[in-house]
Amino acid sequence: SSFNQLGLSQAMVSNLAQLGFQQPTPIQARALPAAIAGKDVIAMAQTGSGKTAAFGIGLIEKLRPRQFSVQGLVLCPTRELADQVAKALRELARAKTNVKVLTLCGGVAIGPQIGSLSHGAHIVVGTPGRIQDHLRKGTLILDKLQTLVLDEADRMLDMGFQDTVEDIISQAPSQRQTLMFSATWPDAIRTLSERYQSNPIDIRV
Ligand code: AMP
Repeated sequence: SSFNQLGLSQAMVSNLAQLGFQQPTPIQARALPAAIAGKDVIAMAQTGSGKTAAFGIGLIEKLRPRQFSVQGLVLCPTRELADQVAKALRELARAKTNVKVLTLCGGVAIGPQIGSLSHGAHIVVGTPGRIQDHLRKGTLILDKLQTLVLDEADRMLDMGFQDTVEDIISQAPSQRQTLMFSATWPDAIRTLSERYQSNPIDIRV
């Protein structure tokens, strides 16, 4: 199987080759066609499975750089993961010009983040508490959001972020794509999926 057969743009296929991605990992082969078709996906995926590109490639492919609004939001349990995801998305975004990926995490001053948001971002990657702060302040606006990603969803719930995550989801447009990635499959994850996804493609690799 190759990236050529997954319906990606030539620019993305070349960029992936430059990044050393010759063929999709199993989770990418299954998640990408669904994600690109705009479907919801719930995937059981460990770190190292290629899960970041499994949602990142679709996010970048769908993005319209000339529309200056937040089109993708990725929620992560920790700042370390958010930084890692943002770095991977910026590499994938070399397939397009002028894509801005912004990280919004707690533990740092909020002022500079507000400044960055005012310049426009296409994709925001962050931790739930700080994302909620920005929504409350009105500095982050999700009315043009197309895709919401919950990365390491089980860890976010373990860390006590369930209410915050649900509050954020409630502020996203109801017509959106929701992609969930989780290493484990507790009831709370199943419930979250039932509540916020529609007809998700269920992937376990
Ligand atoms: P992740 O599971 O998203 O943390 O990815 C694990 C590592 O695999 C990262 O260093 C990625 O850059 C790399 N990776 C992801 N997809 C591919 C691929 N299709 N081919 C080669 N490496 C990949």
